[in-house]
Amino acid sequence: MSRKPVIAGNWKMHNLQQAAIDLTNGIMQELKSEDKNALPEVIIAPTFTSLYAANKALRDCGCGKVRLAAQNCYFEEKGAFTGECSVQMLKDTGCEYIIIGHSERREYFGETDEMVNKKAKSILAEGLVPIICCGESLAQREAGVTDYHIASQITKALRDLSASDVAKSIIAYEPIWAIGTGKTCDSTEANRVIAMIRNVVKGLYDANTADSIRILYGGSVKPNTIKEQMAQSDIDGALVGGASLTADSFAQIVKGAM
Ligand code: PEP
Repeated sequence: MSRKPVIAGNWKMHNLQQAAIDLTNGIMQELKSEDKNALPEVIIAPTFTSLYAANKALRDCGCGKVRLAAQNCYFEEKGAFTGECSVQMLKDTGCEYIIIGHSERREYFGETDEMVNKKAKSILAEGLVPIICCGESLAQREAGVTDYHIASQITKALRDLSASDVAKSIIAYEPIWAIGTGKTCDSTEANRVIAMIRNVVKGLYDANTADSIRILYGGSVKPNTIKEQMAQSDIDGALVGGASLTADSFAQIVKGAM
């Protein structure tokens, strides 16, 4: 089965509104001469306060080559949840995808596997796509529990989801020790873990679902690493942090996935 590649830029807590507009326009400019159908699914994830501005820039351009994601959401629809944003609110701002379970959210904001599962359900119920992050710490890797830990994260994140919902979801395997450190995980090892994740999905569901779900690698992806990563059998794209913050490097990564 051929899966459409995905390149998603996680801007984290960067970019005021004007900077978000400039970066969005810059990316679209870089991709201007590319055939839309040949491009991977290109996604940008600005911070909450820049989503509206980035969405307006995308709509003003109208090229349809770049899509919008949020970096987080809350699983309740509405109510007394000060400081939170529901999936419906993010959809209303133009988001089609939402990143959940990023290691920074797990580490600094107490996001648990159970919360990731509730968020995934709310996102899918609104017709959006969850980008479900998983990954091991250096201590877990050194202790030899990488596969066990990730299989457990994925099993809990997908609990009670239907096969058709899982088939349209995206998983991002992001070894924590590779995020923002410049230490990229060896491509064959990233591919091995991603194939293991696909096998977990197959065990929970079926071969079709496992063949359909897109699984990305994330962790210090750069223009000069993407081709080797994309050449692997099971890596369907990348979740990119630092290198998504300039139009030139992000566009090079996008083009490297074509
Ligand atoms: C990320 O935060 O999802 C990430 C992969 O960051 P970086 O590319 O900077 O390692």
